[in-house]
Amino acid sequence: MTMGSCSASRGSTSIPPGCGNWGLRVEHQDTNPELTLTGHDELTGLIGRGALFKQLQARIDAGALPISVIFLELDHFSVFNDSLGYPAGDEMLRVVARRLAVEVPQGAIVARFDGDQFVVAVCADLANGVRLARHLAERISAKIEAERLSGLHVTCSVGVSVAESASDAMEVVQRADLALCQAKRGGRNRVCPYDEVFAASRLRQQRLVVELERALDSRDPAINMLFQPIYSLEDDRPCAVEALARWDHPQLGAVSPGEFIAAAERTGKIHSLGAQLFRLAILGRQVWHAAGSPLLLNINVSPLQLHNPDFAHQLLDLLAEFEVPTAHIACEITESILLDDDQRSLRTVRTLTDGGLRLVLDDFGTGYASLDTLMRYQFAGVKVDQRFVRDLEVSATARAIVRSAVTLARELGLTCTAEGVESDGVLNILRDLGCPSVQGRRLCEPVYAENLRRMLA
Ligand code: C2E
Ligand code: MG
Ligand code: MG
Repeated sequence: MTMGSCSASRGSTSIPPGCGNWGLRVEHQDTNPELTLTGHDELTGLIGRGALFKQLQARIDAGALPISVIFLELDHFSVFNDSLGYPAGDEMLRVVARRLAVEVPQGAIVARFDGDQFVVAVCADLANGVRLARHLAERISAKIEAERLSGLHVTCSVGVSVAESASDAMEVVQRADLALCQAKRGGRNRVCPYDEVFAASRLRQQRLVVELERALDSRDPAINMLFQPIYSLEDDRPCAVEALARWDHPQLGAVSPGEFIAAAERTGKIHSLGAQLFRLAILGRQVWHAAGSPLLLNINVSPLQLHNPDFAHQLLDLLAEFEVPTAHIACEITESILLDDDQRSLRTVRTLTDGGLRLVLDDFGTGYASLDTLMRYQFAGVKVDQRFVRDLEVSATARAIVRSAVTLARELGLTCTAEGVESDGVLNILRDLGCPSVQGRRLCEPVYAENLRRMLA
């Protein structure tokens, strides 16, 4: 019988029966299982993570392999906790613990890892571990529903890893945790086996956060600013310059702004990073603006920065410190400003525009509310996203979209820039469509301030 159809009773699983005594704390009974545990988690009676690591290591060292580690978390538990109250949340955790104890095969270790996270270690290969994980998740949901603990269907996300040779218990559990993370990222209510590619990218993200913090504290010169000119198609001359951040890390290599800005946004570092990037942009401008005046400087602003009530004043103070006229600066913002807190963003944007700065809607056309955004905020221009621009030669749809964006911008009295122009063919189509300005590798790559100064001179 497969795990998915397996009943609650022990012995109905395809997991190999117990690999010896694991210092078992679980009595297998179909109803009202009693946990024969000593001095463990008060709420559930299960062992905690310290004992889990010890017992798992002992099993691995004894060579009872392979061992599958199943890392299970209730989906949206905090919502149930908040809406139903802590006593109901506690009861839900007790039900989960009891259900796990009933459902796992003889010899399994069952631990409460943290909050609503549970770990089961069982003598099984990965395929059987995944099958058991699915079974456990199903049975937990069914039990919570049967006991009417929540009006909603409660689901679990689960990650599974396997120890096949002498290995470190903590590492195996960490792998299961990474697999759990993948299950949650994938939309929850699923079981994911450990995947090296996902784990590597996740570990890189975690490393990035640490390294970014270090770089910010030390004002690491590896974080740099490049500048890419935007050209007017009226006279084929630069009319503005966009500042684009770069980070060349000695070990991680070139980290794209997409990657490290996202990491800074997730960890709240975007405010200090953003402030440093503005300063770098203004310092760079000092290098080239005499050669290229009166070029506008476009700086990218993360939507999260707009939530900071001090942001607008900090930016205005910085411009005053360097005696940069506010009319020479444009803030490029994507449509996600609309996503959460409208009021704070609106106030910040108003302070910026009242102060004389221009606002440009970046990646126009990719958000869910481009036109609504244009209505609400005082934009001076839009930048048509490169995913439409790059397909201009091959897609009638892309041509129709760009033509509409150009017309809309003209009707509204906004500037319009097409981003990501890589070929003569695309450039010619943009001319035919009447697009007023363009940016992209075909015209100029992002370059260091000194190079830009030489080019402009
Ligand atoms: P974005 O503001 O839309 O910037 C345009 C992106 O297109 C840049 O990528 C630029 O290097 C790239 N690009 C320029 N020409 C071409 C081309 O011909 N073809 C293609 N395929 N791409 C081209 P980059 O520098 O990797 O920046 C990615 C995004 O990261 C930016 O998108 C912006 O949203 C964000 N970003 C960059 N610097 C900063 C910054 O200082 N602060 C903030 N908050 N975000 C930044
Ligand atoms: Mg931009
Ligand atoms: Mg863009």
